[in-house]
Amino acid sequence: MPARNATAQPSTDAPGLRPVASLPGVGPALAEALARLGLERVQDLWFHLPLRYEDRTHLTPIADLRPGDRAQVEGVVDAVERGFRFRPQLKVAISDDSRETLQLRFFHFHRAQADLLKPGTRLLCYGEVRLGAQGLEMVHPQYERLAGHAPAAMSELLTPIYPTTEGLGIKRLAGVISKALALLPPEAALELIPPPLCAEHGLTSLREALLYVHRPPADAHLGQLTLGIHPAQQRLAFEELLTQHLSLRRMRAAVRMRRAPALGGKGELRAQLLASLPFTLTAAQQRVTDEVVRDIARSKPMLRLVQGDVGSGKTVVAALAALAAVESGYQVALMAPTELLAEQHLRNFRHWLEPLGIAVEWLAGKVQGKARQQALKRVAGGALVMIGTHALMQEGVAFGRLGLVIVDEQHRFGVHQRLALRDKGLEGDQVPHQLVLTATPIPRTLAMSAYADLDVSSIDELPPGRTPVQTVAVSNARRTEVIERIACACGDGRQVYWVCTLIEESEQLRAQAAEVAHAELVAALPGHGVGLIHGRMKPKDKQAVMDAFKAGELAVLVATTVIEVGVDVPNASLMVIENSERLGLAQLHQLRGRVGRGAIASNCVLLYQPPIGQLARERLQVMRETNDGFRIAERDLELRGPGEVLGTRQTGQLSFRIADLSRDAHLLDAVHEVGETMLREHPRAAELLIERWIGGAARYAHA
Ligand code: ADP
Ligand code: MG
Repeated sequence: MPARNATAQPSTDAPGLRPVASLPGVGPALAEALARLGLERVQDLWFHLPLRYEDRTHLTPIADLRPGDRAQVEGVVDAVERGFRFRPQLKVAISDDSRETLQLRFFHFHRAQADLLKPGTRLLCYGEVRLGAQGLEMVHPQYERLAGHAPAAMSELLTPIYPTTEGLGIKRLAGVISKALALLPPEAALELIPPPLCAEHGLTSLREALLYVHRPPADAHLGQLTLGIHPAQQRLAFEELLTQHLSLRRMRAAVRMRRAPALGGKGELRAQLLASLPFTLTAAQQRVTDEVVRDIARSKPMLRLVQGDVGSGKTVVAALAALAAVESGYQVALMAPTELLAEQHLRNFRHWLEPLGIAVEWLAGKVQGKARQQALKRVAGGALVMIGTHALMQEGVAFGRLGLVIVDEQHRFGVHQRLALRDKGLEGDQVPHQLVLTATPIPRTLAMSAYADLDVSSIDELPPGRTPVQTVAVSNARRTEVIERIACACGDGRQVYWVCTLIEESEQLRAQAAEVAHAELVAALPGHGVGLIHGRMKPKDKQAVMDAFKAGELAVLVATTVIEVGVDVPNASLMVIENSERLGLAQLHQLRGRVGRGAIASNCVLLYQPPIGQLARERLQVMRETNDGFRIAERDLELRGPGEVLGTRQTGQLSFRIADLSRDAHLLDAVHEVGETMLREHPRAAELLIERWIGGAARYAHA
């Protein structure tokens, strides 16, 4: 036995456990804003880590700026122009001693703000440099006006940028974190991983790592920090991954202690459904269905992840599992991440189950008022199959006898949300079985970490008769040609998706971009029906458009990425993806999965806007080379490994503060090893780690 370390038992008056309000200058309003970020105790602030850094320790002459740089410049306003061509715009040209000009562009601004930016004003700006139509520019830079001629004050440290919430400015948050850091105890009192384990795995000082990531010196390696590969960040990533592992293991152990209803049944309903399907199951579907049916027939809760590539037929497996529950008189809830996807499931389930005499309830966020009341009543009264979005989990939904929860995850639900729905089914010590469907194949190491609480089944085979999608990448300069090709395809009776992708902007801007493309295609394709669908439309209108497309009344469907998941129109055989260079591989693969569903040869055109970077080029190359989701996922990992910058990490799978499963996969073996040892020999320290890293966030999620 290693020596019992004094570190695992901080006393209750330890500074880290004090409420944030105990810090000087933190009043009730600020404490409340912090609570919204899950920051309730001093130690929560220690572990609230920067998303990225800005280097404001020096000025860059405008002449030295390169597109893609993030830089700080000082300059004098030469000219101001307000434009209204497509939307209001403010353009401010500044220049500095290097005698070069930089354009600042603003799309959202107040009149008063514009009035203050007169020629001759001196500005200190920070932002990302881009190559615009009139040379170098910064869009929405941060700036401050400088008075007189005194030189602007430079920071001595890199500036950490923290995730924050509305009403809490970055500077204010950074100030509170700084006060909290002043209370950081000495190393021995802070460390929770037993020292022998630290030594064995070369883990450096936690205290130093924390101080470094919060206050990197001016000469810190910004490149490393941006990529998240600095040793200080890796030390923290290790601890976070370890905590995640411990927490998932603990949840799993807790669930395994419980009981679940044994959903046996004779399989008559399943046989009826299978007989009514126009196809037979693939061997892989059959095998996975058997695994699920076997699991849920036991009185031990199932926790199973079914992974299968886009189009591999996960839905029917879910329906068969649902029937097993129904046959035993238990309820089933299926939850999907988007309304469109949930609706698609609703339609499939109604189509399959209603002929068997089973009603399917609809419980999405948009179902309101009386309809909602009635649906809730039926659910409480024992209606058997419920389909919906997150709303399924929300307050007011009480299930009578929930036996099985199915989550079509597509990577968008977090572990905690999954648990929230499971808790809905709690009845004494009884919990429902749980089935999670996920589309993006996950390499095994990641699956073990992200889903350490689940068993995994794979549908590793596509239904027969699918033709691989031929993919080409085409510059936007050849857009007219592409549109001509669409006209030909429509003439041949084929149906086409045109996908507009605008990321990082609001749903409203996305919708606008789709409207513009829609108008362009309507004008270019006379005689063919061109429909439009985007996230801001009412579900009823979305449905009407989808129905018209499905029925073949529309030849072309212009869409935002709302069609990414779930949409199923076998006759659609051509997809054009605009600005494909901006999307990640997983998303491109999801989108492309909407074609190639019938027997017709399908094509995908990846339109890109040159110039594009090396990574984007490689992504498009991967898409041209293969249709295999597993290979794509692996290449994705490789490409994103060293190359990806923090902040663009794929959302949803699991949200980490500092760890990144693809970047830090090399830590996982050691994480598992340390984790198992801690669970065995240092359970109390394991608890404290969980409390430290997920305590606040978990309390917040349950609030
Ligand atoms: P995903 O795994 O992406 O959710 P779906 O469940 O939506 O895939 O299935 C994609 C399409 O394939 C659907 O139209 C579905 O009816 C069809 N399908 C599912 N299983 C089979 C099968 N064994 N043979 C033929 N078609 C199938
Ligand atoms: Mg699906």
